[in-house]
Amino acid sequence: MEGKVKMSYKIATLGSHSALQILKGAKDEGFETIAICEKGREKPYKSFRVADEIITLNNFSELTKIESKLREKNAILIPHGTYTGVMSQEAIERLKVAYFGNRKILKWEYDRTLQRDWLKKAGLTLPKIFKKPEDIDRPVIIKFFGARGGKGFFLAKTTEEFYRKLKAKEAKKYIIQEYVIGAPIYIHYFYSPITDELEIMSFDKRYESNVDSIGRIAAKDQLDMGLDTSYNITGNVPIVVRESLLPEIFEMGESVVKASKKLEKQGMVGPFSLETVITPDLKFYVFEISARIVAGTNFFINSSPYADLRYNGQMSTGRRIAREIKIAIEKNKLGEVLI
Ligand code: AMP
Repeated sequence: MEGKVKMSYKIATLGSHSALQILKGAKDEGFETIAICEKGREKPYKSFRVADEIITLNNFSELTKIESKLREKNAILIPHGTYTGVMSQEAIERLKVAYFGNRKILKWEYDRTLQRDWLKKAGLTLPKIFKKPEDIDRPVIIKFFGARGGKGFFLAKTTEEFYRKLKAKEAKKYIIQEYVIGAPIYIHYFYSPITDELEIMSFDKRYESNVDSIGRIAAKDQLDMGLDTSYNITGNVPIVVRESLLPEIFEMGESVVKASKKLEKQGMVGPFSLETVITPDLKFYVFEISARIVAGTNFFINSSPYADLRYNGQMSTGRRIAREIKIAIEKNKLGEVLI
């Protein structure tokens, strides 16, 4: 089988986000790999020896130009955050290249309103949304549409503060969400349609500028400097969770998968993540879902404590994707994972 896999399919992804992990995982499972890079940004994929081949584009948005080339190479594209960031959902659906996961489900991630419907259908607790700035009666976080990595988000407590801070922002399409005070935890799941099993892969929290460094300055100095918080992501920090929370975490993931099957035929396939805040009374508030691999899994390129338990080590989310493809090939069930 090893030889057959090597010859017949190649794993390809855009050179950014979690590509190192995805390509390394694919190689570890015996696949040849292709990194699709933007000109001048190939270095990490060469230096870390994860790509058997590098295809260079001027810009990721030119991906459609290499559709037939990728098809000839029998490439399977693995989506990640950069991919969903540069391609519209329609463009992803139109792309004539094999794609890991269910592209139909992405629509439920792209649109924040649909995303809320999905999470509500799964019975999860969500932060309140304020329809008008005039309704603000508690701390809120303002999120811009299409903002990647939390850039430009800001906090407000009153309507007046909201309008004052909004003036300085360029983007005007936003949502106003209750700000939940608690510990942020991002849960990394993997759902296999072949075994119908939901796995917990790992957890992380983010390392954001400037919010994660404001605590290094005394409160008095923060006020004197007139600091505003921003949430621009710079990296990720690994977490293990309190063990007694795990049963609920499994249940949350399973209900998301169950709900997804009612939204789209075949539902959620492969890795996904719930972004949560846990309050002091240990209640989970879910404020976002990513229907693909998230960059928080990058820390666990060799393994996570949970992958150690489940796989005896040597399993990342990237490698788990390649393993799923391999199992699907062996069982003649590729149609269940390339949708
Ligand atoms: P996001 O880009 O949506 O993942 O959010 C960026 C940052 O804002 C992260 O640090 C989150 O923990 C934080 N955040 C987002 N939404 C909320 C919320 N409703 N309550 C508290 N923190 C939040």
